[in-house]
Amino acid sequence: MNALMLEGEKYLALRDIEEPSACSGSEIISVAAVSIGGSEYLGFSNPGIRCLPNIMGHGFSGTTASGKRVAVYPLSGCGNCCYCITDQQQLCDEWSLIGVQSDGGFTQKAVVPKKQLVKLPDDISWEQSVFIEPFANSINAWETSAAASKNTIAVVGAGSLGLGLVALAQASGCTVIHVSELSTARKKASRSLGATHTESVLPETYDIVFDTVGSTETREQAIQATSKGGTCVFLGFASAELNVNVSELIRHQKKLIGSFVYSKRQFTDAIELAKTCDSGWVKNISFKEVEGILKGFLQGDFSHVKVALRPEFS
Ligand SMILES: [Zn+2]
Repeated sequence: MNALMLEGEKYLALRDIEEPSACSGSEIISVAAVSIGGSEYLGFSNPGIRCLPNIMGHGFSGTTASGKRVAVYPLSGCGNCCYCITDQQQLCDEWSLIGVQSDGGFTQKAVVPKKQLVKLPDDISWEQSVFIEPFANSINAWETSAAASKNTIAVVGAGSLGLGLVALAQASGCTVIHVSELSTARKKASRSLGATHTESVLPETYDIVFDTVGSTETREQAIQATSKGGTCVFLGFASAELNVNVSELIRHQKKLIGSFVYSKRQFTDAIELAKTCDSGWVKNISFKEVEGILKGFLQGDFSHVKVALRPEFS
């Protein structure tokens, strides 16, 4: 079967590998759709904690041998520590993501522990399913921020994380939902999910600002746009360094919060939220097109709302 292996920095190879076999407690998933987003392009440009070769792709869905449609909850922990027993496996010392520390969805078939499979309803398309994993991140960030309907909200970056936050703000009854974004397609998608203003700059200050990108520029923009006493939430990973002037953060008593991945409950909740997306926003691509898309990301081409690897299209 075919699998796309990350074998080095900016080096992906399509390999013919043996089909996996299921061991006790796991199932073989025929992969239908894999989200390609920030984690994949960061992994492509700098493999970091990944052991190479690595089959990337941690947001994916498919069918079991018995034909059940499932999404893969990719996170696991030791199962015993104070974080694992409160469904915060991302804080466990042994946290692990399928597709990062182990092989993921850039393949025709993947082995997944049964306890990490989440049943999909019949009325979600494979295209919509690629929003589940990023939207689970958005739900964790939203809940961590303690945002409420009375708050004014700004979102920097309208990739999948930003779109999920816009959808959550809309569902929560917020009336000011401003988005900072450059791509025309992503601005349009934000508006259809409830954004009330979409431009490249944020014109006001807001109670809660989410930075979904993580570059020095977007972090500065997010902190600047946070009102006095407001909350700024960082989800984006574009830069590992925090290289911003924090004096305003101190003088204006702004709260800075980090948010990383999600619990299984948040992942399951993201299924309904993903159904609010338009399947037409997703560009379906084959194995052979993945490298070109990732190289495009590195050159700043974020013109598509969302890109999904579809092994069956290869
Ligand atoms: Zn643990």
